[in-house]
Amino acid sequence: MAKKVARAAVAASSRWTDPDGIRMPAGEVHAWERGTNQTVCGLPLSRAELQRFPHVDWQDVQPATGRHADEVGRVCPRCAAGMGARRDERPWTRRDPRP
Ligand SMILES: [Zn+2]
Repeated sequence: MAKKVARAAVAASSRWTDPDGIRMPAGEVHAWERGTNQTVCGLPLSRAELQRFPHVDWQDVQPATGRHADEVGRVCPRCAAGMGARRDERPWTRRDPRP
């Protein structure tokens, strides 16, 4: 069972450089707790070839609300769940009504 992470940074499969010359995450993003070697969903950073972005908050790469989400292609759903996605934000919920 994953422990609760209050505030995480970002690990991503790719990157881009913003106009200020700051590295920003791109591609698939995962939540990453600073000081650890794996993502919140349990991927080892080195083996998964993920880059760390200790200066970027997880909240800032959420496509619905984040200010650094321009190049984000996919948000890891397991990390999102591990970070406790808020109930009023469900960008990745599949609508599948059942009786
Ligand atoms: Zn993940």
